[in-house]
Amino acid sequence: MNRITGMLLSLLLLAAMAGGSDLQDRCAGLTRGQLQSVIEFLSADALEGRAPGTRGGELAENYMYSLFKQLGLDTRFQPFALHGFRLDSLAMTAGGRSLAFPGEVVGSYVRAEKEFSLEGDAVFAGFGIRTPLWQWDDYKDADLRGKVLLVRVNDPGMFDARVFEGSALTYFGRWTYKIEEAARTGAAAILLIHTTPSAGYDWQVVRNSWSGEELFLPASLDNGLKFRGWISEASLRSLLAERKIDLERLYRRSLRRSFRPVDLGFKVRFSGRNAFRDLETRNVVAEIPGRSGKSIVLSAHIDHLGRDESLSGDQVFNGAIDNGSAVAALAMVAKVFAASAGELRHGLTFLACQGEEAGLLGSRHFVANSDRARILANINFESTPVWEASLDAFAEGGHYSTLGEMVRQVAAAQGLGYSRFTLADQGLFFRSDQFPFAQAGIPAIWLSAGEKSASGRNHIAAFFKGGAYHTVKDEFDPNWELAALRQTIQLAVGLIERLQAAAEAPRWQGRLPFPLATESGD
Ligand SMILES: [Zn+2]
Repeated sequence: MNRITGMLLSLLLLAAMAGGSDLQDRCAGLTRGQLQSVIEFLSADALEGRAPGTRGGELAENYMYSLFKQLGLDTRFQPFALHGFRLDSLAMTAGGRSLAFPGEVVGSYVRAEKEFSLEGDAVFAGFGIRTPLWQWDDYKDADLRGKVLLVRVNDPGMFDARVFEGSALTYFGRWTYKIEEAARTGAAAILLIHTTPSAGYDWQVVRNSWSGEELFLPASLDNGLKFRGWISEASLRSLLAERKIDLERLYRRSLRRSFRPVDLGFKVRFSGRNAFRDLETRNVVAEIPGRSGKSIVLSAHIDHLGRDESLSGDQVFNGAIDNGSAVAALAMVAKVFAASAGELRHGLTFLACQGEEAGLLGSRHFVANSDRARILANINFESTPVWEASLDAFAEGGHYSTLGEMVRQVAAAQGLGYSRFTLADQGLFFRSDQFPFAQAGIPAIWLSAGEKSASGRNHIAAFFKGGAYHTVKDEFDPNWELAALRQTIQLAVGLIERLQAAAEAPRWQGRLPFPLATESGD
C-alpha cells in the first residue's frame, strides 16, 4: 500500500467512524458544556418557570434571541397578543342545586367582564364529536345556540374497540377538541364531565391546572362560548339522580352513531367574579435560508408553568426537561447547521415558541401566520431525554406520514432501533407543538432518542408517569449523562440531511385521527 492510498483509507475510516458526514462530526464535537448550559440557564430559579408574559418568560425569549444571533442566524421576535382570564369566584346552580367551586366544578369565563352571570338549558351532548372520518355526529341538526353542553371526554373507541382507534386516543377524544367543536355549535357554555379513566388524571389535576389564569389566542374566543370548564362526574350523577335521570343510560346512548343531544329539562346558572388582562408574548424565530424557497421548521417550546406562590417551599416549576433539554437540542441543531449557511437546498427555520403549556399557543400563532405551502416538514423536540444512551429512537406521529420511515432509516444508520413511543396512547401527538403543524397539513413529528436503554430502565416513561413531569422537581441535575440528548441531536441532523437530499417531499399516509384544517374549514 502506498502512502497516499493509506492516508485515503484512514481518512475514509475516520469518516465512517464519525457517522460519515461533516455534520455528524460537528454533532460529535459538541461539548458537554454546550449541551448543558442551555438547560442550566433556562431552568435556573431566576427564570421563574418561564411563563408567558412574566419576567422569566421574557428572559427566556431574550436568551434564545441572543443565542441564535450569536450563531449568525437571521433572527427575529414574533410578538403576539393573548387574553388572560382567572375566575375569582363562581356560584353555580344546576336544576336548583348548587355546585361547589372548585370542589365540583372549575372553569374560565372568557369575556372581559368583572362580574358575570349566564344561564342556559342543560343539554347532554354525548362525546361532542362531529367528524366524517368515522361517520360520527353527536350534534346532528340540533339547535344548541345559548345552551350549556355537558360533554364526555375521550372518544367512543375507549368503550368499543371497533370504532375510532380503539383504546388509542384520537384528537376527537381530547378536551381541547370538545371545546373547539362546542364553540362551532353556538353553545354558551361547555362542562366536560370528568372521570379519572376517561380524562387520564384525577380531579385534583383538573382543579390545579384550571385554578390559575387561563390564556387564549384572541381568535379562539371569536365565538359564543363564554364559559369553558369541568364538572366532576359524581356531582353530575347525583344531581341527575335527584331528577330521576340515569347517567349510565345517557352514556349508553352516546355510544351509538344514532345519538342525538338530550335536553335535560333544567337550567344551569353561572355567576361570579372574573379577573382578566391582555398581554403580549413572543416566539423567537431564526432562519438559515435555502435555495428551494421551502424550509424545514424545527421547534421546541421555551415556556413552562411559571411559579405557584401558594406552595410552601419550592415554588418554581423549573422545567429543566420540559422543555429545557428540548430547547438545548433545538439550539445545538442550529449550531451544527450555522456553518452551512449558503449551502442548503431547503432552508431551516428554528422556532423557539411560547405558550405551549397554555395550549400550543405560540406554535398555533406561528402556523397561522406562515405560508404553509413553503413548509416542508416540522421536527419538534419535547422533553428530550437527558439520561444514558438509548438503544432506539421514536418519532411520535411518524406513522401518519412518510417521516416515520425516514426516521427509521436514519436511526438504523446510527445503529439505533426504531420503536413506537409507549405513551402514544395518551394522545401525546396532540399535546405538543408538532400538532398545529399537522393540523395545517404539514407532515410533523416529535423526534427523540427512545425508551430502550442498556440498563433496561425506561427513563422517559418514568419521567412522565409519576416522575418530575409538571412538578417543581423538574430541575437540572449535573449527574445527567446527556447521552440521549446528543443522540436526539444526531437523529435530527441525520433526518435533515435526508430531507435535503430526498427527491420527494414528505407526505401524509393512511387515515389521520385528526382533521386537517382544509377539512374542518378553518
Ligand atoms: Zn413540554
